[in-house]
Amino acid sequence: MAPPRDDTPLAERVEELLAAGGPLPLVAAGRPVLRRATVPYDGQLGPALLARFVEALRVTMHAAPGVGLAAPQVGVELRIAVIEDPAPVPQEVALVRGRVPQPFRVLVNPVYEPVGTARAAFFEGCLSVPGWQAVVARHAEVRLRGADEHGRALDEVFTGWPARIVQHETDHLDGTLYLDRAELRSLSTDEAVAALWAQPAPQAAAEALGFELP
Ligand code: ZN
Repeated sequence: MAPPRDDTPLAERVEELLAAGGPLPLVAAGRPVLRRATVPYDGQLGPALLARFVEALRVTMHAAPGVGLAAPQVGVELRIAVIEDPAPVPQEVALVRGRVPQPFRVLVNPVYEPVGTARAAFFEGCLSVPGWQAVVARHAEVRLRGADEHGRALDEVFTGWPARIVQHETDHLDGTLYLDRAELRSLSTDEAVAALWAQPAPQAAAEALGFELP
């Protein structure tokens, strides 16, 4: 029998979640909230509570630390995510991965579609799957549509690492984890990635671990 769903109104639950202050507890893989589709945001929290929730997401993402965080990762089934990447990597890595700095952004009701057919494959990880990374071939360029936290329309093309981040976070809002799209033979602990697969691109890992690259 499935456990009962929490019927407490969303705003009330978010208020409770924020009451403690500071970074929010992260939800790890295995929790159903990470596997359900989210509810489009249509004002359920009101402007003041939304602003507080977004700030809590930002604080939590920084504390983790991570470059993106989706509402389900703190147990809230709303179609909202935040991204920010100061891109503190060596220049060679930044060039190969297209890892340019991404300022803080709030994505409300985002959806993406590929632009062109190019794909890029790199190791990535997820705050909800701590300790592990795997290679994911993703669209090299995507068009992202939605809104920001003030309701202003968002329609923008993302490339390089920011394209990877927005795909990863938007996927969370559809109940998809990066592992669903990963080359499972590339699955590596953080320690193994640091020791063996820190190269800018995963060619050596593909050869040694036996997986295909696009
Ligand atoms: Zn994630």
